[in-house]
Amino acid sequence: MATHFINGEYVQSTGSTIREVVNPATGEVVDTTPRGTVEDVNAAVQAAVDAFPGWWDTSAAKRGAILYRAVEAIRANVAELAHLLTCEQGKPLAESQMEIHRFAHTIEHYAGLAKNLRGGYVPNLDERAHGLILKRPYGVCAAIVPWNFPVSLMGNKVGPALVAGNTMVVKPAETTPLTDLRVIELMSRAGLPAGVLNCVTGQGSVVGQALIEHPQVAKIGFTGSTEVGRQVMASAAKTIKRVTLELGGSDPLIVCDDADIDQAVSAASVGRFFNCGQACLAIKRIFVFEAVADEFTAKLVAKVKKLSVGPGLEAGSRLGPLHTPGQRAEIEAQVQDAVERGAKVLAGGRRPEGIQYEQGNFYLPTVLADVAPDSRVMTEEVFGPAVPIVPVKDLDEAITRANSSIFGLGSSVWTRDLNKATRAAERLEAGYTWINSVAKIYDELPFGGFKQSGVGQEHGSEAIDHYMATKAVVIKTE
Ligand code: NAD
Repeated sequence: MATHFINGEYVQSTGSTIREVVNPATGEVVDTTPRGTVEDVNAAVQAAVDAFPGWWDTSAAKRGAILYRAVEAIRANVAELAHLLTCEQGKPLAESQMEIHRFAHTIEHYAGLAKNLRGGYVPNLDERAHGLILKRPYGVCAAIVPWNFPVSLMGNKVGPALVAGNTMVVKPAETTPLTDLRVIELMSRAGLPAGVLNCVTGQGSVVGQALIEHPQVAKIGFTGSTEVGRQVMASAAKTIKRVTLELGGSDPLIVCDDADIDQAVSAASVGRFFNCGQACLAIKRIFVFEAVADEFTAKLVAKVKKLSVGPGLEAGSRLGPLHTPGQRAEIEAQVQDAVERGAKVLAGGRRPEGIQYEQGNFYLPTVLADVAPDSRVMTEEVFGPAVPIVPVKDLDEAITRANSSIFGLGSSVWTRDLNKATRAAERLEAGYTWINSVAKIYDELPFGGFKQSGVGQEHGSEAIDHYMATKAVVIKTE
């Protein structure tokens, strides 16, 4: 059994309930972890409180150097970590390897920014008085992480928090705690002082809630659904805790009449179906100009029908299983709702057949046309491999329909016309807009949702600001 990681070592839970971690492709139990208790959270927070003064006093350059060593340890173990990630999460092995590399890149990015932490100086506020603008770490921060990218989304919080001088307690998703625990162990063995990075496994309503309510936790970095994000924000309000919320999305992809259609088709296929459609930034609605709608649709359907579905550990699988039976039931209900409202299924729309699929949560990649605007696939987040295609007259209609969503995470526009590209970039209500590109996140750029897709940003140097308090100091001399 895997256990919590607190103060530099694996420790047993004070409780006795455990949770099985199940392989989504086979239904087999990979391992078990404790369902952590409030006492376990208190122990982890205390370890982080005790470690904070020493970590804050460590020079920023040395904090960066320690994080660089942690990155080396992760890169030396990519094969083992990726295998474990596929077993607990389900994604194809190649995508797991990409995710581990992505984590390493993020931590390396923040290690590199360590020597660049800056405050400010304001001369002559009054006679012989000047001001300093200090940036200081908050103290103990908590990271609450979902199951779809358990490692890279943990990295988005650990990197900026630790480089800024905070210590941290991580709560992974209940269904994907194993790779996170192993990554934290490797980083600690590589030189992170005990207590700087801790991990408590268990339920959101117990472990997550205890972290949010803990008086000594100063900041919550949360990634998950909009629904749970709302609860996190409300609970954090009781102690006016700082929050960064990265929540759900329903990203539009707009294909204009002058676009390179083949490239737009490839982008739609990758953007919708990587991680079996279970990505916040996945393409979830396609708006295509009427003039090119038939060509685009025919090419996308042909491409999607060739995507191979199978266990993530099997070479050649492009789509693994859905993460849980519940996730598959949800996508089935959303597709059925669209069909009942008149949608046509152009590809997929059902489970694959064959004995090799019987134990896993598999579902075929699905393309829908003639979708009613009030269908669930248009109004809700679709967290699985199904996409509606909607023809539009022009760019203004595309932008209006793209913006008619409670979400505002990412967006993608395919055009060779600079005027259309610029207008779309300005008008789309989304924290990220890709022009002739899709869903690729850069550590160098800030990423955060508009509307009900989030509060604050991860990535970029902006993320560090979200893990530091700003303080004014006035110095008066004789
Ligand atoms: P979720 O909201 O169900 O759970 C996320 C985490 O919150 C888990 O660790 C869970 O245990 C914990 N949690 C649940 N209830 C809690 C509570 N009451 N208090 C504290 N913690 C609690 O999300 P999920 O199903 O694991 O992930 C999928 C969702 O995450 C999708 O909506 C997706 O769009 C979103 N997501 C957003 C981003 C982004 O960057 N914006 C990235 C990835 C995923």
